[in-house]
Parts: sequence; structure tokens; C-alpha cells
Amino acid sequence: MATFILQDATGIGSDDLDPTQGFIDMTIIANDTGLGIADPAAGKQRITYTRSVNGPPQLRLDAMINTGFSPDYGSGANNVDTIVVAGLKSLVLDDGTSMANNGTALPPKSSGLPGASLNPTEQCLVIYDTQLTICVASAGSGGSLDLGVSAPVALYHEFSHAFRIVNNTLLALTGTCDPSSPEERAAIIDENDLRTDLANRQGASATLRDPGNHCGKTDSDCESCCIIATLVSRSPVSRQVQMLRCARDHFVRGTEVGHAFFDHFFRDYYAFSPQACTLMAGDQSLRRQLLDGFVEPLLDFWNIMVARGRRVMSSTQLGTAFIALHPDRLHAERRHAALLGTSAYWESADGQSTETPAQLMALLRERAWPSPYMQWALVAPVRLMHALLTRYLAGADAPAIGRAFTEALDAWAPEVPICTLWAALPAAQVRRELAFCERALLQTTKSKTRFRQRLGERFCDITAVAGVLGQSQAIDKGDTWRTTTANPTS
Ligand SMILES: [Zn+2]
Repeated sequence: MATFILQDATGIGSDDLDPTQGFIDMTIIANDTGLGIADPAAGKQRITYTRSVNGPPQLRLDAMINTGFSPDYGSGANNVDTIVVAGLKSLVLDDGTSMANNGTALPPKSSGLPGASLNPTEQCLVIYDTQLTICVASAGSGGSLDLGVSAPVALYHEFSHAFRIVNNTLLALTGTCDPSSPEERAAIIDENDLRTDLANRQGASATLRDPGNHCGKTDSDCESCCIIATLVSRSPVSRQVQMLRCARDHFVRGTEVGHAFFDHFFRDYYAFSPQACTLMAGDQSLRRQLLDGFVEPLLDFWNIMVARGRRVMSSTQLGTAFIALHPDRLHAERRHAALLGTSAYWESADGQSTETPAQLMALLRERAWPSPYMQWALVAPVRLMHALLTRYLAGADAPAIGRAFTEALDAWAPEVPICTLWAALPAAQVRRELAFCERALLQTTKSKTRFRQRLGERFCDITAVAGVLGQSQAIDKGDTWRTTTANPTS
């Protein structure tokens, strides 16, 4: 009686999964801080939910997560769990079915229901492409495929099929898309509940999908409509989420420590983000202010960090990259004013600014800012950008901005939250992870030295970490010595 997110696709398909995105999509559906995720066990993570919101999507999610389903497909009642398989575009099921731009809910293999033969397990699989770009028919459009499907909407649609599978109430399915089959009609009607809920959070009116038409198209013409769908039907965090996804993809590729960092990060982030969206819904001027004075500078900062992680940037290159963000003085002044406006959210303990909504301030103070992950990844970068912009407006040139930028990064980068995972790694992997951190994030000697110092202090009694730190200091000394004298032996 449980819902899980799959971490290891062995036996089901190629291992092209994105379980973190699966959980993000579920939190966007729930928009409720009661949604949680357990540590991985046996290749999957259990989802928990203590509901505090009463909308149809939340009630449905609550039922999926907290009901024990024991359907009888003809050979006696059996427990059936729901397993969410959040796939990348490249995910291919073991029978060769590509999941690109696709979603499906597969009944247990011995249920005899349609699709069961594709399922190698006795659980109900909910499979979807987390990066899908498809367009479907909006209600009243006469069948023109002009409505985007965001990943949370696709996942929720598949949950609707899954709900009837685990209750053994699946309706008739046909191969045609127009008119849609009774089963698809029911899933589209449920899907529209989420579309309505998402639009309500924004104070917008929902564009609904036509329940009578299940057709879809995936060509590139869709992209414009999908961008609109992103703006209209997804939460205002979606661009942040995409930016973070990009930063995450860059910084974690192949590193255990990076994965652990983002697991912590997203857990802390989703402890307040859905509620923050609800508080911002309908308040256009507040959303505008946060976009200009928080989200945009944050995106700019992380874009530069990703570029710097790919190739070492000199201090002047950093200064030039910063200046390029501000095409003219008016833009810089406007951005600076917005940054001043939002600084009230973290600078002042009691929120002197009368324009700062008290509820949002209280939420952030209570749930967001105590997290070292939020401080390091969200607050410190925006403060840093604010300080640089102040210098720029006072007349600093690219080399001067670059020096200030480098100094600020030296103070910021090595203070990245250190997770306990380091303690569990064998020496060879500690060495690899450290090398990655130094290349992708730390880069300068000052920054590397400080990070090693923190790591050493934190894990002084862990042999693997202490050993590698001692060793790499020796290697550094050796390298310096070798470069300043002739190579003695080889
Ligand atoms: Zn469907």
C-alpha cells in the first residue's frame, strides 16, 4: 500500500531515470508541504503525504499514497503498489518501447488488463517523460492541437489511469484518439482538475483540455505553445526549477556528493516553495518584484557559474561576463532598485519594508532561510550580485568588478554545505569527488585551501578523508616543486 519513485530501472528499461524531477513534479501537483520522500531502499524511494490542502489533485494524491489497494483481477486479492518511473527522453522499456514524449500507466503483469504484458512487475507502473514537449487539443478549439502538457500534468494524467488500475475499475480503451475512449476521457477530466488548480494558484483562468479528444503531436511547432503553457499553467518556480536542473546537471554529473547536495537542496527548497507560490498567486506586482530582484539575478549568477565550471575564467573575464548582463545603465539601475526591494526579505529581521507581505516573510524566515542550502545557493548569490551591481553603478570597470567577483567567490564557494556522505566514501572516491569540486566550483588556491580545511575539520576522524587531504597536500607541494626545478626522475 504505497507509492514509490523508482531509482533503479533494472528489469524495466534502460536506466535513464530522473527521480529527483519525479519528486519535483509530484510536489508541484501537491503544492502542499506535507509531501515527503524517504531515503532510497531496494532501488526506490517511498513517498509520504500528510495532506493539508483539500483540492481534487491533493485528495487524489492522498488516496494514491495512503490507501492500501488489493485489487482482485480474477485470481484473488493482491496488494498493488504504484511505482513512478520518471524517465529522461532516452528511456526505453525492455521491450523496446521508447518513452520519449510519452506517458503510460501499466497494470500488474498478471492482471490481464491492457498494457499488462509490457509490465515485468506485479506493481502498477506510472511511466512518463519528464522533458516531454507535446501539444493536445484545448477545449472548444475544434480539435486544433494548441495546448501544452507540462510534466506535472502528464504525471497527473497517468496517476488517473493508475488510480483505476489499482481499484480494478479501468474503463474501455480503444486505439482511436478522436473521439477519445472512455478511459482516456476520464483521465483527461482528471487532468483538467490539475490544470484548474495550477491556474488558480496564479490567479489566472485555466485553459482546459478537450476530454473528447486524446490526440497529441510532438513536432517542434509545439514549442511556442508549450512555453506559454509553462508560463500559464506551471508554478512561478518553473523557470527556477529549469535553471536549477541545468546547474544540477552540470555540477552533479557522475558525483555522489553532488547528488547528495541536490537531494538536500530540493528537500529544503520544496519545504517552502509551493506555499510561497500560493502566497504570491494573484499578486502581480510582488511576482514582478521577485522576478526582477531575485529570480533574474539568481539565474544570471548560476549561468556564470556553469560557464566558469566548464572552463576556468580569469578575473577580468568574470568582470566582463557580469557587465554583459547589463546592456545599458537604465537596465542596471532598474535591476539595482529591484534588488534593494527584495533585500528586505533577508537583510532585516523584522521586515521593515511595508511592501513586504508579512505572511511570505514569515514563511521564508521559518522554513527557507534556516537551511544552509538555501542560504548558500539562493541568498548568498543574490547578495553577491547586488554588491557587484552597486560597484558597477559607482563606475567600476571590468577588471575592478572581476577582482571583486573573484574575492566574493573565494569567500562563498568553499562554504558550500558539506554533507555527511563524504564520510562513507572510500579514499579513491574521496579523491575523485574532491578533484571534481575543485575543478567545477572552487578553482582558486584560496578557495581550495579553505574547502579542504573545512572538510578536514568536519571529518578529522574519518581515515579516507583525512588520508586523501594529507596526501593531496603532499602532491600539491610535489607539483610546485617539480614545476620550479628540472624534473628529477620519472
Ligand atoms: Zn491517457
